[in-house]
Amino acid sequence: MTKLLALDQGTTSSRAILFSKAGEILDVKQKELTLHYPNKGWVEQDAEDIWNDTLSAARGVCDRQSANDIAAIGITNQRETTIIWDRETGKPVYNAIVWQDRRTADYCQSLKDAGHEEMVSAKTGLLLDPYFSATKVNWILDNVDGARKKAEAGKLAFGTVDSFLLWRLTDGKVHATDATNASRTMLYNIVEGCWDDKLLALFDIPKSLLPDVLDNVSDFGTTDKIIDGASLQIGGIAGDQQAAAIGQACFEEGMVKSTYGTGCFALMNIGQAFKPAKNRLLTTIAYQFDGKVTYAIEGSIFVAGAAIQWLRDNLEVIADAAESEALAISVDDNNEVYFVPAFTGLGAPYWEPNARAAIVGLSRESNKAHIVRAALEAQGYQTLDLMDAFIKDSGFDPTVIRVDGGLVQNSFVCQFLSDMLERPVDVPVVTETTALGAAYLAGLHAGVFSSLDDISNAWVAQKNYSPSMAVDQKESLYNGWKTAVKRVLV
Ligand code: ADP
Repeated sequence: MTKLLALDQGTTSSRAILFSKAGEILDVKQKELTLHYPNKGWVEQDAEDIWNDTLSAARGVCDRQSANDIAAIGITNQRETTIIWDRETGKPVYNAIVWQDRRTADYCQSLKDAGHEEMVSAKTGLLLDPYFSATKVNWILDNVDGARKKAEAGKLAFGTVDSFLLWRLTDGKVHATDATNASRTMLYNIVEGCWDDKLLALFDIPKSLLPDVLDNVSDFGTTDKIIDGASLQIGGIAGDQQAAAIGQACFEEGMVKSTYGTGCFALMNIGQAFKPAKNRLLTTIAYQFDGKVTYAIEGSIFVAGAAIQWLRDNLEVIADAAESEALAISVDDNNEVYFVPAFTGLGAPYWEPNARAAIVGLSRESNKAHIVRAALEAQGYQTLDLMDAFIKDSGFDPTVIRVDGGLVQNSFVCQFLSDMLERPVDVPVVTETTALGAAYLAGLHAGVFSSLDDISNAWVAQKNYSPSMAVDQKESLYNGWKTAVKRVLV
């Protein structure tokens, strides 16, 4: 019994991945998930699709296995996405409201205007933003016929995606979540480690809706849904970014993982003392083992790989993403061209939602290779912006950055990151770090791993990049970026 099954329920797909104890991927099944946009700024998913797709992916993998080989299941999920269901029937009362949904923006603004943000941030580490679950729960209770009444009578349950899947997997026997997912609801006090009565009152949410909050490695119950007749243990749960940090074995203070997909999400382990983040960064729970919380600072870059997609699909200067590397190195430098990919505003540390993207510094000899190179270089500049804020807020100076996500297949990007950050950048052998993190949690519960040290030892770099650019050249490039950013901030 050494195989570990990770259920990775993401925003665009639901996957099941079977890992060996050594972290090798043995089998994968994936189903794409449909997003619905019923109104401007609204983003929903059918919670039944989330369940059915996850179950069929899991069955797809397990049908090819002997049930006896699977030691435990770990779940990781898109965070903040909100589901409320009927405790009796198990049926959702409304679609899942996805983290990207902005319908509660006015409500958040009114709470900010009333001066509540400071209190909310001090308790949750978050900002008063529609992103998090609390205002989505409030919206469902106020807008779905009869929901508030039923909630007050204790007949409804709320959960993030992990919690809903757990309920379904255990036939409604377990209504629980883990501390990392709880920390993204804006209802959980991450300093005291409990659902917070003051926050529940502020968002007008009855406590009876809420799941129990457990350690990341816990007895989350068993399921006979995936393999008929076999009782499989669910031993671990974590939200996707935290699972990736666990998959990257970021268990020491100051360790950073940075994931470059469509956007970029970076997390720095800041240890066991809560520190409020500034510069529009968030403080969140990195993980909780044996009742002990470890915190992280989190920052996101809205556009990472999406800039490469834009070059491919909108400008049509490349046929596929991988082509960007050869083009970028076909020129000696960026020819003073900078691409600020602020398509949806600028995130931390600028936080200017109304900024828009720009390509600046074009001259008569600029060509498409310079523009593509500028888009790739932007990954390095944006990460340095973020890292400076991390270091300021945390007081920790990371010695190395562990990266993953689609973009790290691009060696130019990784080398440029290392040059900008003036630190080594490591790419692991297993880049499916989110699912791997969930598998590690399950493995800890099942005794496949006996400690975090076991996991740290299992982490192996596939490639190391070291800084090789002269510091004055780096400074000059970064100054060029700062000037370009100023031009989109006006
Ligand atoms: P997500 O999980 O957000 O869907 P992935 O981690 O799968 O994203 O990464 C996909 C992103 O990586 C895309 O935006 C794509 O443009 C970019 N990408 C993939 N390969 C390369 C490459 N070789 N060079 C540059 N960008 C790449």
